[in-house]
Amino acid sequence: MEINWNTSLYALIGNPINNSLSPKIHNFILEELKLNSLYMAFNIQEQDLEQAIEGFKAMGVKGFNITIPFKKEIIKYLDSISPEAEIIGAINTVKNQNGKLVGYNTDGLGFLKTFKDNNVDLAHKNILIIGAGGAAYGIACTLANENIESISIANRSVENSLILKEKIESINSNIDVLLDDLNLQKINKNIIDIIINTTSIGMSPEEDKCPIVLDGFKGEIVVYDIIYKPLKTKLLMEAENKGYKTFNGLSMLINQAILAESIWNEIDDEKNKKIFKEIEGIWKFM
Ligand code: NAP
Repeated sequence: MEINWNTSLYALIGNPINNSLSPKIHNFILEELKLNSLYMAFNIQEQDLEQAIEGFKAMGVKGFNITIPFKKEIIKYLDSISPEAEIIGAINTVKNQNGKLVGYNTDGLGFLKTFKDNNVDLAHKNILIIGAGGAAYGIACTLANENIESISIANRSVENSLILKEKIESINSNIDVLLDDLNLQKINKNIIDIIINTTSIGMSPEEDKCPIVLDGFKGEIVVYDIIYKPLKTKLLMEAENKGYKTFNGLSMLINQAILAESIWNEIDDEKNKKIFKEIEGIWKFM
């Protein structure tokens, strides 16, 4: 692309950002959309966040993504936030609407899209979420609005599980929320339909690790590991060996980026599907 006076800027802010794949994915999408636009990543110090956002406003930056550790802190610098971001209480995407900054969260919906695209029905399902960190939060808050039966949270630290349980119950008091640690001695494994790993256990370079022992579950379950490096974690290998349906973290990663792009620029369904397939195709060989 040719960068000129009229090139629009999109950005990512966070700290650290050196492993982020967002510039690659977003610049690919912008190119596909044939937009005179560029996506850059900025490593921001905590004390400089407000100034950075003021700078973006002054320069007319069209939109930006926010990653760790600013997803919550950013809220106080925005003019308004979307309903789903309000529920999750964290922002990963901001749109500059004529000088007003509007916050969104595409993490949970990006995750959910994997189920929708693969015709996995969530109604009345019993779900086990492993982990209670930032990603688990977005996913659990989004699932709480689906017509599911129960969420079991298995996490190392009880405090984080408790905060997540309270949050889910505040969104939907009809969902049973059960807590356990990673040994899974308390929950009834027999009722679980879907397991979602949101911990970093199994992520590169510790690829030989698995967050739970995958024994004692039903014969037919879905296992979704949101890790995307490696694409096939030890948990997913074990799930495949047992004949379970599996999903890796790539679709969530691509979908949350496409959703962010469609907040900034219009992308119709057909284009959306085409871009998803192209990025997925490139990725599989990386
Ligand atoms: P986070 O907020 O730091 O949460 C990490 C979670 O993993 C917590 O539940 C933590 O337990 C648990 N954990 C970490 N190390 C552990 C260990 N050694 N033993 C037991 N538990 C451990 O991180 P996050 O932002 O949620 O990200 C988590 C993972 O999701 C990462 O691998 C990330 O790459 C992936 N992710 C993928 C996508 C995607 O688009 N596919 C999006 C976001 C994140 P405690 O609560 O006890 O600390």
